[in-house]
Amino acid sequence: MSKAGLYIHFPFCRRACFYCHFFKKKLRPRLVDALLRRLELEMGLRRDPGLALDTVYIGGGSPSLLGAGQVSRLLAAAAEHFNLGEKSEITLEANPEDLDLPLLERLRRAGVNRLSIGAQSFQGRDLAFLKRTHDAAQGRRAVEAARAAGLANVSIDLIIGLPTQTLRTQDANFRVIEALRPSHVSLYILEGVRRPATDDHDARLYFQARQALLDLGFEHYEVSNFCRPGKAARHNLKYWRMAPYLGVGPSAAGYLDGDDYRNAPDLERYGAALKKGKLPLLRTPRLDPVKRRIITGLRLLAGIPASAFVAFSAETAFLLQEGLLVRKENNLAVPAEKILLLNEILGYFI
Ligand code: SF4
Repeated sequence: MSKAGLYIHFPFCRRACFYCHFFKKKLRPRLVDALLRRLELEMGLRRDPGLALDTVYIGGGSPSLLGAGQVSRLLAAAAEHFNLGEKSEITLEANPEDLDLPLLERLRRAGVNRLSIGAQSFQGRDLAFLKRTHDAAQGRRAVEAARAAGLANVSIDLIIGLPTQTLRTQDANFRVIEALRPSHVSLYILEGVRRPATDDHDARLYFQARQALLDLGFEHYEVSNFCRPGKAARHNLKYWRMAPYLGVGPSAAGYLDGDDYRNAPDLERYGAALKKGKLPLLRTPRLDPVKRRIITGLRLLAGIPASAFVAFSAETAFLLQEGLLVRKENNLAVPAEKILLLNEILGYFI
């Protein structure tokens, strides 16, 4: 069996961004310590020293608001309750304004070896539209400081689909990416803030961005994710390959022994259940494993084995005929030029 990943949700942010759908709460320092104790409790309840982990992803929220000592504490709890391998990928999500060289050095010493930096854009107008609390220079400095601290495995998040973006300003963004040389880029189309009738515009931005990243030597391996060779996000690949992962923290999701689970997206319910020695679970409908495999696996540009589609022979034949699926060796995959139609394609299997 492939090794498992551990996702730790830290839900606090300095302030809520209007476009964000993650479970988050305004930062209150006294709540942070309580949350850390609960995360330790939850890992204790899920204790399985035989469960081999090779990735940890601390996401949020804004986990770069944690000090390095607090990150160490979480990793120590993971190592105490599970079999955390020495060569594990340990990712921390970070906002640029939280990062400076001394903190990054301490985080590296605490065990973090990969950063996912929410730069979003390197254009001031885009950041102003998003009402981000960092500016373009802070975004650049954060990536440079990470490298100076010995954290070379850096992913940069970019958002596209903003009314402030044009093909020209986006091209300027990719000149910054070229100079910063990250190992990974995640490219998200922001839903819900588009001007009317801009789907074509978003698609043009997406495919321009894709081409810019390919020209810079990145591989496009998942709808929203691009990497230097060998630098795909090992943790996130578990989601798309149906590998097991634990999720701890309010709202965190996990997939273990073929079952999905989700924790309550509510700090009080989360804490109250753990105090009683119970897992803070929500009821989640069981997803058919064949459908789950297709839904998660078709996000990968390499696709998944054709054998996964046997229950859908008519649908698959139609999608192949329409060019919405293609054969890649033994796999079936959505061709890159149709990848923005993924949701419509998945509709044939749900
Ligand atoms: S900082 Fe990140 S997690 Fe927090 S509200 Fe903004 S986008 Fe969401």
